[in-house]
Amino acid sequence: MTASSGADAWGRRRLRLALPFTVIAEPGVVRLIAGEDHRYTLRADGVERWLPPVLAALDGDGAVADAVARAPGREAEADALLRRLLGERALVDDAPRLVAPRRFALVVEGQGGLFDRVAAGAGGEGEALAVLCQDRHDLAAALDFHARALAAGHHAIWATTGPLGRGWVSPLLLPGDGACLACLVLRFRGLSPAPELYDALVGHARRGGEVRPSPFPARGEAVLAELLLWKVELAAAPAPPPALYRLHVLDAGALAVSEHRVAREPGCEACRPWR
Ligand SMILES: [Zn+2]
Repeated sequence: MTASSGADAWGRRRLRLALPFTVIAEPGVVRLIAGEDHRYTLRADGVERWLPPVLAALDGDGAVADAVARAPGREAEADALLRRLLGERALVDDAPRLVAPRRFALVVEGQGGLFDRVAAGAGGEGEALAVLCQDRHDLAAALDFHARALAAGHHAIWATTGPLGRGWVSPLLLPGDGACLACLVLRFRGLSPAPELYDALVGHARRGGEVRPSPFPARGEAVLAELLLWKVELAAAPAPPPALYRLHVLDAGALAVSEHRVAREPGCEACRPWR
């Protein structure tokens, strides 16, 4: 890992505005306004001339380097501003994309009923896909699993019944784009009323402590296994639907599956070196 490869990864990132902001440019100031509650005021000399074209370039296909290049002579300021807007979530990463349709051969690890079902379909023709199926809320094992997959440059997918009462099927995790497993965990942690329990669980497992399995209905395991295999199949489609990159949650009490957008977490250190 060198400083230049980090800069290259930043330049290649595809960002877009998180909301349909109205951009108001006046001498020395640019305002981004979306509805009542989302406002950003950016002040700099001449900003009304060089910032709007930079923002216009981030239309989902524009990489950071191309956008910054639209502000000749002001590249450093534009770059710093994009980093600030990303940190404040006014900018987000565009939806991840497979470079090309992929046919995967499943390399499955984990334990429990969900693992047994998915492992029964392991192997096959294609590129290795790292698959983790868990029956316990062992987040340390999940984080380690994806760190290994990223280091090997492998695509990955994670399914677990560990949350107890709910089962998760992760998005297809791409080695060079989109959220990583640690981004997901950071997001869950951020939403939790007791985030310190995440740290306690990870620390406990890393010290070799036992994480007990969570019971889960066998039919629910079957639903999760099918969702996972469905996503693997969709990766081979010429234009995979956005659902491939969403988190799916099965609520075993309500018999309901919901889908959730996930994004790279600006503070995630786990995927920073690989992106
Ligand atoms: Zn990450």
